Amino acid sequence: MNQQGYVATPPYSQSPPGIGLSPPHYGHYGDASHTASQPGMMKPAGPLGTASPGGMLPSGPPPPGTHQFGHNGAHASGHPPQRFPGPPPINNAAPSYTSYSPSPQPAYPSPVSTSVTQLNSQLSAMQINTYGSSMGPPSQGPPGPPSTAQIQGPPRPTQPSILQPGLQVLPPPPTALNGPGPSPLSPPVHRPDGLAGPAPPNAQYQHPPPPGQPMGAGYSPQQANFGPPMPGTQLSYPGGFPGGPAQMAGPPQPPKKLDPDSIPSPIQVIENDRATRGGQVYMTNTRGQVPPLVTTDFMVQDQGNASPRYIRCTTYCFPCTSDMAKQAQIPLAAVIKPFATIPSNETPLYLVNHGETGPVRCNRCKAYMCPFMQFIEGGRRYQCGFCNCVNDVPPFYFQHLDHMGRRLDHHEKPELSLGSYEYVATLDYCRKNKPPNPPAYIFMIDVSYSNIKNGLVKLICEELKTVLEKLPKEEQEETSAIRVGFITYNKVLHFFNVKSNLAQPQMMVVTDVGEVFVPLLDGFLVNYQESQSVIHNLLDQIPEMFADSNENETVFAPVIQAGMEALKAAECPGKLFIFHSSLPTAEAPGKLKNRDDRKLVNTDKEKILFQPQTNVYESLAKDCVAHGCSVTLFLFPSQYADVASLGLVPQLTGGTLYKYNNFQMHLDSHQFLNDLRKDIEKKIGFDAIMRVRTSTGFRATDFFGGIFMNNTTDVEMAAIDCDKAITVEFKHDDKLGEDSGALIQCAVLYTTISGQRRLRIHNLGLNCSSQLADLYKSCETDALINFFAKSAFKAVLHQPLKVIREILVNQTAHMLACYRKNCANPSAVSQLILPESMKVLPVYINCLLKSCVLLSRPEISTDERAFQRQLVMTMGVADSQLFFYPQLLPIHTLDVKSTSLPAAVRCSESRLSEEGIFLLANGLNMFLWLGVSSPPEVIQGIFNVPSFAHISTDMTLLPELGSPYSQKLRMIMSIIQQKRPYSMKLTIVKQREQPEMIFRQFLVEDKGLYGGSSYVDFLCCVHKEICQLLS
Ligand SMILES: [Zn+2]
Repeated sequence: MNQQGYVATPPYSQSPPGIGLSPPHYGHYGDASHTASQPGMMKPAGPLGTASPGGMLPSGPPPPGTHQFGHNGAHASGHPPQRFPGPPPINNAAPSYTSYSPSPQPAYPSPVSTSVTQLNSQLSAMQINTYGSSMGPPSQGPPGPPSTAQIQGPPRPTQPSILQPGLQVLPPPPTALNGPGPSPLSPPVHRPDGLAGPAPPNAQYQHPPPPGQPMGAGYSPQQANFGPPMPGTQLSYPGGFPGGPAQMAGPPQPPKKLDPDSIPSPIQVIENDRATRGGQVYMTNTRGQVPPLVTTDFMVQDQGNASPRYIRCTTYCFPCTSDMAKQAQIPLAAVIKPFATIPSNETPLYLVNHGETGPVRCNRCKAYMCPFMQFIEGGRRYQCGFCNCVNDVPPFYFQHLDHMGRRLDHHEKPELSLGSYEYVATLDYCRKNKPPNPPAYIFMIDVSYSNIKNGLVKLICEELKTVLEKLPKEEQEETSAIRVGFITYNKVLHFFNVKSNLAQPQMMVVTDVGEVFVPLLDGFLVNYQESQSVIHNLLDQIPEMFADSNENETVFAPVIQAGMEALKAAECPGKLFIFHSSLPTAEAPGKLKNRDDRKLVNTDKEKILFQPQTNVYESLAKDCVAHGCSVTLFLFPSQYADVASLGLVPQLTGGTLYKYNNFQMHLDSHQFLNDLRKDIEKKIGFDAIMRVRTSTGFRATDFFGGIFMNNTTDVEMAAIDCDKAITVEFKHDDKLGEDSGALIQCAVLYTTISGQRRLRIHNLGLNCSSQLADLYKSCETDALINFFAKSAFKAVLHQPLKVIREILVNQTAHMLACYRKNCANPSAVSQLILPESMKVLPVYINCLLKSCVLLSRPEISTDERAFQRQLVMTMGVADSQLFFYPQLLPIHTLDVKSTSLPAAVRCSESRLSEEGIFLLANGLNMFLWLGVSSPPEVIQGIFNVPSFAHISTDMTLLPELGSPYSQKLRMIMSIIQQKRPYSMKLTIVKQREQPEMIFRQFLVEDKGLYGGSSYVDFLCCVHKEICQLLS
């Protein structure tokens, strides 16, 4: 099923001849444009673009024989090397299903493995047979396959997480796979485990289903929610629902002992890492070292490899061969955040200036001088760590070697001893060989009727008067070099001349939106300080100027076009800040119609909702990137605005999309103004082009992020700021050596905020191993989730969502089954054994599967889904971790004297209590949830009202009170907010009131109200898949 409609490795037009590996390229945005690059539009290929002879392959000539393992279908193991690997061939799968179902086995084998110590104690609580009474006799559970014969190779010492026998032998709980979905309107049922019957300990919070409630209703279509490719889903759980769904409807059963604490906890993993690695100095001198988690606070000392703040990897040990990689199916990827913010107690990047000669580079692969270059022959030559080419050391760069073979100036030169540093770029690296001009920011305000009327235009103009004082500037500079310009628009465009010597600003109207031109050059882009009084004059006048306008229609593409033309005319890169509200319906290029068709949801055509409705925006984005014009969009929609189309240019130009639904001045201005302030001040590089070089044996094959690509190697970005990350996937070209490792060099050529052309270099060395166990030991789940999310969200444009979900489940099972088969100690196959580094992978994958992008929900609009899709595409690892698994903090137990954050709890309703107050944050939203019996003294302290009943939910900011509770809570909120790119809107949620439905969707370990499994159910499903793969 999911092999059709899903192209594993389509003919790849750009594969250089002789390179057999066909990178899966489906789903690549704008494939067409990749094949037809237009020389006139491209950035200067320059030193980044001109790589090795042949141009495509930085790592030297293709090694002999590479073609033999790359082609479609050439994989021996039956694990296709797709991006989203499909299911095992039918002829494999079918027998395993049949053998799976009927044969009874001793239902719940007792733990036998001696290596199973780690989770044994907590798992003993997980007495599976407690299901028997409500779900049918235990013997009806499907047996695991015979427990022999699965273990291959010598057992290696590992620290697996082992779940107790028979997780998969459970009769199916009413999961999204096969279970009843609650009616959207029914009161949420408290079932942390998604199972019928058992009342949780804190049953006071539970609303048991009314007796006789037909829970079988809405039974079938849920199969699609995550779909392991099982021919006949129900068959695969043969023990399920022996008596039919009616059995589920009885009165609550006596409490069962299935303890959610018995399955791996993300919170525990986070806390353990904090306890062992928090507060420490992380030295980057060791190749292949796994860094602390993104959730841990630590300090980095660069000793030859890039800080994990810049690069994180899905695994820090690559498999030596592509066969191994196919076997494990662990994506080999790096999440690169080249402009990541560095804490003030860490050293900023050094700047290396070699004057007119420029950086020293390998003659063959053009890699930059770095710690991976090996000096030989007394220092006269060096061997490139990437392509092995032996180069002469340029005379100006010569230095003698010490007795260790190291240059005497090793510690004096950042490029010899550090993982990250910058070079001053020479004119060769500049457009037209001319030094660039400093960038410009253009503010473009939609002054249509509704924006004037609701006060938004006035708010923006007022804010600009102060925020322009904070334009980013170099440390040593007095004022910012960034120039500013202003445009307003509705159906037509108004340019403003704000030259410093004018008494009054002058307006020029461009009515020809079909072919926008820039009516003035002199006086449009100005230095803010010099023109301050004219600018303030203008900002005061704008709201008045359009006060009587009744114009409701707007244009959009011409606005971007105008901004780009203005930057082009001024020969500078820059950023457009567009403040826009509505679907652009006025007659003009990029005109859009309302095509929000909810009927497409849950069909194979759902992907259309995520695609732009015209190709105008893509070609506009391409032009913008070619001219270094980044677009940031502040969107204030009151109805469908077609984010999939409007958001495309921001996404592809490295800009940011901010969205404020039904903007209300008194509730939302705080969030908007914080976003605007933060965005204007951001550290950012312009007109950027990134190249990722690798040592021989592997190469970068796919890129995900706010990027544009005219060819297969140069990642172009109109701008890239401190919050944006590019995820890069690697594939093998050849064998990797354990000795040489896998080396990565990421070089970003860009223009600084003051107009300097620079190169930022990040180097990272990874280990290589021919032992699968080493690979699994070095994985990072948070980075894996970042990769899976981006590749799935990219595929959303081209694939049915159901197929994508199936592939995700399937690949998860493959990765874990491979570990089970090759790395874990012998034990009953019915045990779920998870590698230590991936023990919370299932819960995160389930969160991803339940995200509104991959699984529609009635209350989530098409625009919101498109918005979240775009957002995730540019996220770094820390942001995606929080986004998919929100932080849930108990507030009622706060120690107001402590300065630290309270320990988080798992995102499940079972962790809430009527007496509790909880704060939840995911990077976009923040909720303060109040139980009906919240302590009055805490309520008084936070809200200054006497009781729960008095709390108003009509606020997005907490009152600033002097009480310890108020101060502490607001401090916690600001700490959580601090590191996040988006200002989170606060929603007050009172237990058992309407907004609680929205809040519940963030309790990601629970079964979704509209589909999506609970963590427990998903784990059962994955375990079952694993057993099938092993049988
Ligand atoms: Zn080289």
